[in-house]
Amino acid sequence: MEIIDGRKIRDQILENLKDEVRNLKTTPTLAIILVGGNKASAAYVRQKSLAGEKIGAKVIVKNLNSDVSKDELENLINQLNRDTSIHGIIIQLPLPEHLNEEEISDKVLPEKDVDGFVPGSKFRPATAMGVVELLKRSGVEIKGKNAVVVGRGKVAGRPTAELLREEGARVEVVHSKTENPAEITKKADILVSAVGKPNLITADMVKPGAVVVDVGTTPVYPQFEEQNPKSKITGDVDFDEVSNIASKITPVPGGVGPMTVAALMQNLVTAARAQN
Ligand code: NAP
Repeated sequence: MEIIDGRKIRDQILENLKDEVRNLKTTPTLAIILVGGNKASAAYVRQKSLAGEKIGAKVIVKNLNSDVSKDELENLINQLNRDTSIHGIIIQLPLPEHLNEEEISDKVLPEKDVDGFVPGSKFRPATAMGVVELLKRSGVEIKGKNAVVVGRGKVAGRPTAELLREEGARVEVVHSKTENPAEITKKADILVSAVGKPNLITADMVKPGAVVVDVGTTPVYPQFEEQNPKSKITGDVDFDEVSNIASKITPVPGGVGPMTVAALMQNLVTAARAQN
């Protein structure tokens, strides 16, 4: 069994992007809007800023108070949309309850939507891209394989299923209403879980020799703080059990998370190149 090292693959991708950025006429610039003081969101924004720094991009974080109005937030997005020095815009989710996430995210211009969320976006959703890239760089053949994606969320499960289908896999999707999910997951050569429920995927749901990709992240401690050594996130897969029968498996943390950040940076560099 091989544990797929998402951080190592991310670093290879960032290293390649650094060379690409050096040859661009412009500095790729990403604006991240962070609303409120969600600790997990702040940690994700830090990871994106660090990755930007590594490739020679500029990352500008716009911190807004949690009581920001819809109009104020939309004005800022419009301003960033018009600013030709900004190539990519991210609205860090979740937003406070009084703001409709879909409505707000949709205000980002499709050519600046490096998250790949806006209808008509020029980019693929970063997590799905990260999963496919991670499989390819780990030597996993996707074409012709049976893939099962658990979860059909807009950010992770659904786009991952779409991308795997485009890559030539036969894809089945399992969700909260699926009866006998194990019957379906056991057919998977490639099993992806994107739910957010610890220990949802147990060994009896996995075909021996399958490749298992764990997208789910759940804070183990309610007061999740990346900088706190006691804090931790966990995935959907019962790692100890499943790693005994999988051929390859991603850990959490250190699997898909770093790949999502790498894919975002790939989208940012593509955006910068297209806009110049
Ligand atoms: P979401 O929109 O809430 O979707 C969750 C999905 O899980 C839904 O489709 C739901 O089914 C399904 N589900 C719930 N309980 C289930 C069960 N018992 N069996 C099978 N399916 C079940 O979440 P999301 O935004 O897609 O994110 C999913 C997870 O991925 C979260 O843990 C999130 O933190 C993580 N994530 C990680 C990264 C990363 O970079 N590592 C990036 C993005 C997201 P229904 O549709 O039937 O309700």
